[in-house]
Amino acid sequence: MSGYKGNGAKAILVVVYGNRAYEDTLRELQDYLTARDFDCTAAVAAIAEHSIMRQFASGRPNDSDKKQLAEFSRQIISKISQNAPREPLKLAGNYPYKDYNGVPLKPKAGKSCTKCGLCAKMCPVAAIPADDPQKTDNSICISCMRCVSICPAKARKLNALMLKVALKGLEKACSTRKENELFI
Ligand code: SF4
Ligand code: SF4
Repeated sequence: MSGYKGNGAKAILVVVYGNRAYEDTLRELQDYLTARDFDCTAAVAAIAEHSIMRQFASGRPNDSDKKQLAEFSRQIISKISQNAPREPLKLAGNYPYKDYNGVPLKPKAGKSCTKCGLCAKMCPVAAIPADDPQKTDNSICISCMRCVSICPAKARKLNALMLKVALKGLEKACSTRKENELFI
């Protein structure tokens, strides 16, 4: 994205999170795109099932979320059609941004891996070596769990003990229902 040039184009910021918190992401995104001459005209924080602990926000976005997001899009279209003057959105978040210390949960494949290579092909950051897909480069992995959900052999898993510890830490923050938000 560092090569992007907005030339004044309108941008709609969207973050999706698993019912814990989106922290500074919208704010950081606005700062980043504004510095590249985008007009950040609206922002949405939307809820989806937690990618690691699927018991949180399970089944979301559900029908009522989808209705709400459709309503958000109508409001955004209306704002764009009014050609409102460019001004920063008032977004939640800290400045300076909160430090990101990574997520210590990195999946690996077990013996049931058939070496089909799908996970290596689909990993968004190329953290799985194509010639050895049972491994994960932990320094690159962003813990998105895409490989876990797409593995046809269900071979990719997280360390069970680490998962238990992480669940304890997340339980409080993720248990209260969060709502989709629109900033306009
Ligand atoms: S998708 Fe699953 S079975 Fe295929 S290479 Fe990856 S871990 Fe192995
Ligand atoms: S969790 Fe995401 S980033 Fe990490 S190896 Fe799997 S697909 Fe790649």
